[in-house]
Amino acid sequence: MNLHEYQARALLKAAGVPVPDGDVAATPSEAEAIARRVGGTVVVKAQVHAGGRGKAGGVKLARGPAEARECASQILGMTIKGLVVNKVLVVPAADIATESYVGLILDRKTQKPVFMVSDAGGIDIEEVAAKTPEKITRLPIDPRYGLLPHQALQLALALYKDWSQAKAAMQILRQLYGVFMANGCTLAEINPLVTTPEGKVLALDAKMTIDDNELDRRPDLAVLRDESSEEQSEVTARRANLTFIKLDGNVGCVVNGAGLAMATMDLVKYYGGEPANFLDIGGSSNPEKVVSALKIITADPNVKVILFNIFGGITRTDDVANGIVAATKQFKVDVPIVIRLTGTNEQEAFRILESVGMTAMNDMDAAVSKAVKLAGEAA
Ligand code: GDP
Ligand code: MN
Repeated sequence: MNLHEYQARALLKAAGVPVPDGDVAATPSEAEAIARRVGGTVVVKAQVHAGGRGKAGGVKLARGPAEARECASQILGMTIKGLVVNKVLVVPAADIATESYVGLILDRKTQKPVFMVSDAGGIDIEEVAAKTPEKITRLPIDPRYGLLPHQALQLALALYKDWSQAKAAMQILRQLYGVFMANGCTLAEINPLVTTPEGKVLALDAKMTIDDNELDRRPDLAVLRDESSEEQSEVTARRANLTFIKLDGNVGCVVNGAGLAMATMDLVKYYGGEPANFLDIGGSSNPEKVVSALKIITADPNVKVILFNIFGGITRTDDVANGIVAATKQFKVDVPIVIRLTGTNEQEAFRILESVGMTAMNDMDAAVSKAVKLAGEAA
């Protein structure tokens, strides 16, 4: 789950990281009121789950409340990387001397949180990594010991030569590490971490991703989810307790079990097709789950064929067959459906499908290659 900047900076602030005051607004007049309260020049910032807001015109300086209102009315409702802006953050503008990058990610390769810092901040770190990778210092942290003082010092000195700034950065790195670990983050970054002309170190932007698996035990974090800024098919799937990830291909996949879903996607690719989604309908699939799954998949206009691949263990294949029949009675499915079923109650499942004129097969290769062929013909 991605947090908005205003949510992430609240977590940083609570941990003691110096962030400018300010507040979030949903209307131009709210933005004006916040600007009046904080006084002076303010920055009005689009709150969307995307970087590069600055370049896209979603970060604007405003001299006073009237200009803040004007900026907010321009930014609210605008679209950045396909995401509509519903809220803006209004914060006092800082004078900037230097911009750095400080980030912490959960790294699969080292299986550790890895710090990444760079004195080339402000711009996309992906760009720095691609063009001037030597400007990024990386440091894996052993979670048994946490961020040790000499490590914090090494990272801080990669950012600042000035000793008081380096000390301030060490403190911020420790606080960032604390926030990352305490909230089950997979990513936490500050970009830019700035110095002001007076030499203060401030966090001017914050980005955080929280592991979805953390949310069941953290209702306080779960409420921060903003469904209006997520892929709508993924929101619907989560509500129906389905694990769904939208992809760009045209073969819609309905599979039980994450491993089989991955294998199915591999096989779709093997036969020259492209999966339209990853979808795991779970272990004990009741018919309603199948109906929800079909609704989500058929809502994607790219989908040219739907492929069911069900291995009946705990899942009863007759439940799935009933779900398919129920769904096709509830709404019209315009694309062909290819069904592969095997395992628990498969005879009953075949009978249910045949009774409504549908056919199923047993063999995974045969089903996947047929689905890919049909998708190719329709494309
Ligand atoms: P992003 O583009 O989505 O990462 O949004 P940021 O919050 O990082 O803002 C982009 C850029 O706007 C920063 O790198 C700064 O150069 C500038 N900016 C943001 N806040 C301030 C501020 O308080 N004062 C000044 N002068 N510039 C700011
Ligand atoms: Mn930024």
